[in-house]
Amino acid sequence: MWGYADARLALRDALRLSRAMTYKSAVADLPLGGGKGVIMTAPGEVLSSERRTAALLDFGDTVESLGGRYITAEDVGTSSRDMRVIAQRTAHVAGLPRRQGGSGDPSPFTALGVESAIRACCERVFSTSSLRERSVAVVGLGHVGSRVARRCARAGANLVLSDIDERKRRVADELGTGWASPAEALELDVDVVAPCALGGVLDDTTVPRLRCQIVAGAANNQLARESVADLLAARDILWAPDFVANAGGLINIAEEQNGYNATTAGRRVRMIGDTLRQIFDEAAATDATPLTAALAIARQRLATT
Ligand code: NAD
Repeated sequence: MWGYADARLALRDALRLSRAMTYKSAVADLPLGGGKGVIMTAPGEVLSSERRTAALLDFGDTVESLGGRYITAEDVGTSSRDMRVIAQRTAHVAGLPRRQGGSGDPSPFTALGVESAIRACCERVFSTSSLRERSVAVVGLGHVGSRVARRCARAGANLVLSDIDERKRRVADELGTGWASPAEALELDVDVVAPCALGGVLDDTTVPRLRCQIVAGAANNQLARESVADLLAARDILWAPDFVANAGGLINIAEEQNGYNATTAGRRVRMIGDTLRQIFDEAAATDATPLTAALAIARQRLATT
């Protein structure tokens, strides 16, 4: 659920996000395809609880009309409480609260996967996966970003945190870290920038200004277009393809099909680090970008399923 200035932007986002879900499922080797639902609000609009419930119920009807070909779950702007509302209209909803037999909020697992991705990147660039004394800028402190920040802080990283919402400064206060505006945070001289807000943050303008060595975060569709991966490589900045790094929530939700077990889910999510190592090896061996190597794995899996 997000605010868009016009419906075409929302539609474009839904298509880009569903494409990313297809690649995410394929690289994580999950028996799922790709799909995404977008509930469009006006920019900055906060729905009253009645309108929010009505929008979620309408969305539930739409999901139900697809007869199980699309299963919805939490993402930007929604929570497991919202999934309970949607579940009044359709059974094709994942990420319901644990006490209702679901796997709960996926974002802790997305954050776990992002930490594994950051560690795999650090291993490649600095020859150690330890985050002790690594400098990390986390941009976007929502469900996932705030947890990525806490995990990195616990692992001993030095953090700078950022969000367009000034109220998120409380996360920085709680962790005793620095704070920067989103534009400043992207350009900091840090080891890792972790984009954990919305898409399109890496483009012709921002990439030349980056001073980090690694970009690895939760945000979907970080590249404004695919060729930005070449710009990153030309600047010797290691980018963890977003649809690989942020697959933890989906891997967790997919565990619902096996009789949910959080320990098993956590173990599978940590394997994101191994998947990235394989992608970086293949990229190095073929003189390709991590994006090209990751897409090759996805397309190969899609061709054989
Ligand atoms: P969220 O809605 O909980 O948080 C998003 C945060 O980003 C908010 O604090 C918002 O104020 C901030 N933000 C928005 N625009 C910003 C900007 N331009 N600069 C800085 N901050 C900005 O969302 P979330 O669930 O934490 O998801 C974050 C990203 O991770 C999204 O791109 C989402 O698609 C992706 N993702 C989330 C999950 C998940 O499990 N929730 C899984 C995979 C991918």
